[in-house]
Amino acid sequence: MHASIRPSKVIVVGGGIFGVSTAVHLARLGIQTTVINHGSLANGASGRSLAWLNSARRRSDAYHRLRMAGIDRYRTLSAKYPGAAWLRFDGGLTWDADDAGNDIAAVFDYERDLGYHAQLLSADQITKAIPGVDLLSVTRQGAILNPGEGWVDLPSLIGVLAEEFQALGGEIVTNAGRATVNVRDGRATGVTTANGVDWSADAVLLAAGGAVPAIVAEAGQHIGDDTPIALLVRTKPIDHPLKAVLNTPRVAIRPTHDGAFALDSAWSEEEVIVNADGSYQIKTSTLEGLLHEASKVLEGNPKLEIGDYGVGPKPIPGDGEPVFGELQAIPGYFVAFSHSGATLGLIAGELLADEIATGKRHPLLGAFRPERFAR
Ligand SMILES: Cc1cc2nc3c(=O)[nH]c(=O)nc-3n(C[C@H](O)[C@H](O)[C@H](O)COP(=O)(O)OP(=O)(O)OC[C@H]3O[C@@H](n4cnc5c(N)ncnc54)[C@H](O)[C@@H]3O)c2cc1C
Repeated sequence: MHASIRPSKVIVVGGGIFGVSTAVHLARLGIQTTVINHGSLANGASGRSLAWLNSARRRSDAYHRLRMAGIDRYRTLSAKYPGAAWLRFDGGLTWDADDAGNDIAAVFDYERDLGYHAQLLSADQITKAIPGVDLLSVTRQGAILNPGEGWVDLPSLIGVLAEEFQALGGEIVTNAGRATVNVRDGRATGVTTANGVDWSADAVLLAAGGAVPAIVAEAGQHIGDDTPIALLVRTKPIDHPLKAVLNTPRVAIRPTHDGAFALDSAWSEEEVIVNADGSYQIKTSTLEGLLHEASKVLEGNPKLEIGDYGVGPKPIPGDGEPVFGELQAIPGYFVAFSHSGATLGLIAGELLADEIATGKRHPLLGAFRPERFAR
C-alpha cells in the first residue's frame, strides 16, 4: 500500500474463495474486516468449480511457483483436517486425443524437468495406479499420473474459513446486491451497497470474480478480461471406484465430497447460449453429451444422471495470468482476479492480506500486478 500505515478497517467485496480467504487472513492479523457479497457466500464461480488442485502442463515460472505454494497450503490444511471429505489428494490423470496435437510425451518431460511429480503410464500400468478408469479410452500415447494433485470442494472450504473469520470478529454481509467501490481524492475510501449504505474503510479488496474488470473500469482502470461463461455439471451420487481427477480429451471429472462426480469440458462451455437479457441456456444435448463422455472414460461405463449444474462467468484475465494487488493509481484499492482460484485460493488470500496489512509488495505476486494492463 502507498500509505505505510496499517489499515484498521478493510472491506472485502466478494464472498468467493479469494474474498473469504483474504478476509480470514486479515482477521488472523487482527485487522477489522467486513466481507460484502452480492448473494449468499460461494454463489459465483467458487460454487461451480471443478477445483482441481494442480500446476500441470506448461505456464510461466512465476505462475508455477505460485501454484506450487498454493498446493503447499492445501497440504497444510489437509493435515489439519485429515478426514475431510471436501479436500482430497488422490492424484490426477491426464491424457490427450490420439491426433497430431497429442503432447503427452513432451508435457511429461517438461513436468519431470521441473520436478513436478509425474509418471508416464501405459493403459496397463494405470490399472494398478488409479482405479476406476476405462482403459480402452486411454490413448496409445499413454497418460500422465500426477500423484501430488487433488481437489477441493470450495463451498465447504469457504464455510470453514467463514466460520473462523466470524469467530475472530469478522463481519459477513450477504445478499447485499451489487456493491460499488468508493474512490475519493484519489484513494479507496470504502464501499456503497445496493441499499445506498456507505461502508467506510482504509482499504478495499475487490474480489468480485468475473465482475472485477467492469468494476475497476468505473474508477477509470483497465484490467484485460477473457472471462468465458462456463458450465459445471454434477451427477447424482454413484458408487464408483474413481478417486483421482481425470483430464481427458472430451471431459474432466472429479469426485465430489458427497459421492457424485463434477464434470466440465471446453466443448460444453462453448455450447452455452447467452441470451440477450444476460440469462443462460443449456441444451439438453450438451448435458447428455457430457454425461456420455464421462461414462466412456469411467470403468464399467456406468449410467450417470444429472444431479444439478451451474453456469456463469469463469474469471480469466486477458493474458491468462493472475491479477493480484493494489491498483498503482488508486492507493488502498486492491484486486484479486484470476482463473485457477481453487489452486490459488489459500496462498492468494495469505499474500494479499500480508500486502494490505504491511503495505509491502510480496515478491511472489510481483509478476501479477494489475498495472501491466495500463493503457
Ligand atoms: C467450470 C469451472 C471450472 C474450474 N476449474 C478449476 C480448476 O480445476 N482448478 C482451479 O484451481 N480453478 C478452477 N476454476 C476457477 C476457480 O473456480 C475460480 O478462479 C475461483 O472460484 C474464483 O473465485 P473468486 O473469489 O475470484 O470469484 P467468485 O467465486 O465468482 O466470487 C466472487 C463473488 O463476488 C460477488 N460479487 C460480484 N460482484 C459483486 C458486487 N458488485 N458486489 C458484491 N458482491 C459481488 C459474487 O456474488 C461472488 O460470490 C474453475 C472455474 C469454473 C467456473
